[in-house]
Amino acid sequence: MRPDSLLLQTDIIRQEFSEDMSISRAISMVFDRRPDLRLDGIAHKVLQWYLCDMECWFAADADTISLKCWDQVTQVVRRYNGVKVTVEDGRTFVADAAVIAVPLGVLKSNRIKFEPRLPEWKEAAINELVYMPAGQLARDIEKLSDEDAAYFAYKQLQRILLNATTPIQHLVSRWGTNVNSLGSYSYDTVGKTHEFYERLRIPVDNIFFAGEATSMDYPGSMHGAYSTGLVAAEDCRMRVLERYGELDLFQPAMAVAIPLIDLPREAVEDARTIDSATLTNRDADFPAE
Ligand SMILES: Cc1cc2nc3c(=O)[nH]c(=O)nc-3n(C[C@H](O)[C@H](O)[C@H](O)COP(=O)(O)OP(=O)(O)OC[C@H]3O[C@@H](n4cnc5c(N)ncnc54)[C@H](O)[C@@H]3O)c2cc1C
Repeated sequence: MRPDSLLLQTDIIRQEFSEDMSISRAISMVFDRRPDLRLDGIAHKVLQWYLCDMECWFAADADTISLKCWDQVTQVVRRYNGVKVTVEDGRTFVADAAVIAVPLGVLKSNRIKFEPRLPEWKEAAINELVYMPAGQLARDIEKLSDEDAAYFAYKQLQRILLNATTPIQHLVSRWGTNVNSLGSYSYDTVGKTHEFYERLRIPVDNIFFAGEATSMDYPGSMHGAYSTGLVAAEDCRMRVLERYGELDLFQPAMAVAIPLIDLPREAVEDARTIDSATLTNRDADFPAE
């Protein structure tokens, strides 16, 4: 069985049911409907590995991961009293604030339109930081067919393990062209300042940024992504409490102080003030619920 048949059937269930359900429930439903897709042996193990990988990715059990909320964000509108996020099928979500944790490659591609535009210093950080499929070899492999890519991997493996057998199944990732990543992870190039990571992290009004490319200390890693997620979530919580006048100044704050590095003045102001000129226009607020 090709893994895409299972994914395709799971997507059909996603479209069919208006109510949300977990990924693991959806997969069980696929097997109930299509017993021919049931897996055994090595294929079953591959599916279990895939689910484990997903659980690791989201740091949650598959029976709690939503089937519905996989939407591609296409627009983020920020106003004084909130943020409106639009997803691919046109649905919108309004919240007090938002944490943007998409990969740098996605920000670079402008697939997400920010309205009003992000300030110049933020756009410059997005443009200047480098994010690529890991090197020229990876780029070349992405151009191969699935079969050729799997054969290439097999030949490399055979140089280490002389008795390696030809693959019985393969699943080829293409980080560089997959719309969910558009690259692998950020890295420092010759002559570029490391401070761009911090510029990418600094919030713009009620929009907070997280992800590996916003980590000064651990860019390109899981722990960098995780720690910036914690900081952004805490900054976001403080911002919302502040807005509703419920900020208890004696509460311990996890958010780290902005390091005294050479950031553009506008970036520091954006990070320290609640309302910028673009947000004080109350006429442009979202209507109250
Ligand atoms: C092959 C490979 C091996 C690696 N090995 C290691 C390792 O051994 N150790 C280590 O520490 N790190 C490793 N890394 C790096 C690590 O995986 C990343 O640094 C980390 O996953 C980045 O986390 P993130 O949250 O910033 O981004 P991601 O994990 O990429 O999460 C971004 C999320 O945004 C979603 N998204 C994208 N576009 C949109 C959109 N328009 N709307 C809504 N959502 C969107 C994506 O679907 C994704 O879920 C590896 C990376 C790769 C590619």
